[in-house]
Amino acid sequence: MKIDGKTRTCGLIGNPVEHTLSPVIHNNLAQMFETNLVYVPFLVQEGGLAEAVKGAYQLNVLGMNVTVPYKSDVIPYLKEIDALAEKIGAVNTLVRCEDGYKGYNTDMSGLFRAMQTEGIQIKDENVLLLGAGGAARAVAYLCASAGAKKIIICNRTVEKAQEIVREMKLQIEGTDIVAMALADVRTLAEESFLAVQCTSVGLYPNVEDVVLADGEIYDRIHTGVDLIYRPYETQFMKLVKAHGGKTMNGLKMLLYQGIIAYELWNQCDVTEEQAEPLLQKMKEEMGIYE
Ligand code: NAP
Repeated sequence: MKIDGKTRTCGLIGNPVEHTLSPVIHNNLAQMFETNLVYVPFLVQEGGLAEAVKGAYQLNVLGMNVTVPYKSDVIPYLKEIDALAEKIGAVNTLVRCEDGYKGYNTDMSGLFRAMQTEGIQIKDENVLLLGAGGAARAVAYLCASAGAKKIIICNRTVEKAQEIVREMKLQIEGTDIVAMALADVRTLAEESFLAVQCTSVGLYPNVEDVVLADGEIYDRIHTGVDLIYRPYETQFMKLVKAHGGKTMNGLKMLLYQGIIAYELWNQCDVTEEQAEPLLQKMKEEMGIYE
C-alpha cells in the first residue's frame, strides 16, 4: 500500500474498535480496485461523538462506518439521512456530501445480500425473529420489505418486541407481524420457519449459551441465520443443524455491509467473485481455516 498526498481516508468510529474486521474488508478492497484509500479504526470516547464527526469532515475523511454504541446517537450530527436508515433509526455508514455526512444503514442490505449469496429467501417465509434490540429492528424492516409472509418477533422482554411491532405497523402497511415472549415460542402454530437469531446470547466468550433451549421448535426451523460470527458456529446454529436445518453465521453480513459502504464511498460495484477472497481473509484473521 502506497500512502501519498492523494491518499483518501475512511474509518470506523465506535467504542471499542480494537477487534474490528472492517480494515481487512476495506484495505483489501482498496488494493483490489487499485484505489488510493486507507481505512483505520477511530476510537471515540463517550461524549466525543459530535466533535469526532465534525473533526472527520474537517480532516477531509471520505466516509466512516459507525459501530456500537453510536449507531443511533450519530443521527443528530448528520447533514442528511437516507429514508430507510431514518425508518430503522440506526446508521452504520457515513458518506461525505456537501457540508457534512449523509447517513445510511448498510447492515440490513448487507444481510440481504449475504442471504442471497447463500440462497436463503425471505419472500413468503414465516420469519421467527429472535431478539428486539437494534439489530432485530433492522432485520424486521428487511423481512417486511422483502415480502415475508409473517414475522414473529420473540424477545425475553416482550414489551420491546411489542414496541417494534407497533412502529412497523405504522410504517409498513399490510405486514403480518406479531410480538411474543421467548418463553411462549412453543405455542406457535406454524409448521416451518426461517429463524434469524438477533440476540447477543451465545456471543464469545459465552459460547455454550443459546437463546432457545427447547428442542421441539428446532424441528420446525428449516434455516437458522445467526448474526453472531464469534464463535464461527454458535450453539444456536449447532442445534438447527442437528435438527436437519441449514445455517449461516453473521460473517457474510459483516462483509456485505462493508462492501456496500465501500461501493457508496467509491461509486463502484463489487461482485460476488470479488467478495469471496475477502471472506477468506476475514476468516484467516479470525483463525478459521476450513
Ligand atoms: P442489543 O440492542 O443490545 O440487543 C440485544 C438483544 O439480546 C435483546 O433482544 C436482548 O433481550 C437479547 N438478550 C441479551 N441477553 C439475553 C439473555 N440472557 N436472554 C435472552 N435474550 C437476551 O444488541 P444488537 O445491536 O441488536 O446486536 C445483537 C447481536 O447481533 C449481537 O450479538 C451483535 O454482535 C450482532 N450483530 C451482528 C452484526 C453483523 O454484521 N454480523 C451486525 C449487528 C449486530 P432483552 O431486550 O430482553 O434485553
